[in-house]
Amino acid sequence: AIEVAGLRKSFGSNEVLTGIDLVVAEGEVVSVIGPSGSGKSTLLRCLNRLEEPSGGSVVVSGMELTSQQADINVVRQNIGMVFQHFNLFPNMTVLENIMLAPVDLRKKSRSEARAAGLSLLERVGLSEKADARPASLSGGQKQRVAIARALAMEPKIMLFDEATSALDPEMVGEVLQVIRDLAASGMTMVLVTHEMGFAREVCDRVVFMDGGTVVEQGAPEQVFGDPQQTRTQEFLSKVL
Ligand code: ATP
Ligand code: MG
Repeated sequence: AIEVAGLRKSFGSNEVLTGIDLVVAEGEVVSVIGPSGSGKSTLLRCLNRLEEPSGGSVVVSGMELTSQQADINVVRQNIGMVFQHFNLFPNMTVLENIMLAPVDLRKKSRSEARAAGLSLLERVGLSEKADARPASLSGGQKQRVAIARALAMEPKIMLFDEATSALDPEMVGEVLQVIRDLAASGMTMVLVTHEMGFAREVCDRVVFMDGGTVVEQGAPEQVFGDPQQTRTQEFLSKVL
């Protein structure tokens, strides 16, 4: 589970997160929506300490991230993150990309990491690409490899920041299907997405952010069907 309380983040004099309270239960799938610049990516990055919060607390799987004792490597091993751009290592094969962190950080044997990697590739529908180089893959295939690579660390939580935004339209569906399967498997997930239809279909809860704060949240049918706040109504009228 994730418990965020009073989370603040400033860059210089620019306060980007102005006090976020958010709880994500185990197995819950939450989507974060909101205008550009509202702080969605910054929030996600504070959840695995890619950004240092300026105030408030973030507790992930019972561990206070901002405390001195928190081992940032352990925190990151429990949280997989997938970005808009996949950042695969170009000089390695697909399977080597997936095996790297489990071997280096989790101290798995190569044979164990290989078997787990192959089974993950099967899960994302890319068994036949194990020995291919990332450059030879389509955008959708690269993103599915990036998801498999994150899953190889056996995270308890997965964060997705606009995982489909950089893809050609015909590639979006295959990546959303992988995310949909993950949701069905009970993975705890927070998704920043512009895919409103997908958020509505897959997520347990939708969080609308604007100006560095959570303006409104609730079940998808509630937030999309009957938004309570003017800012939510205005945003949805532009994107739906
Ligand atoms: P988008 O939908 O465009 O991805 P977002 O909701 O993810 O937007 P953020 O990327 O979290 O928004 O950015 C929120 C604000 O924080 C923006 O004004 C941005 O310029 C600022 N910001 C983000 N990262 C940094 C940084 N590393 N240094 C300075 N300012 C930053
Ligand atoms: Mg963003």
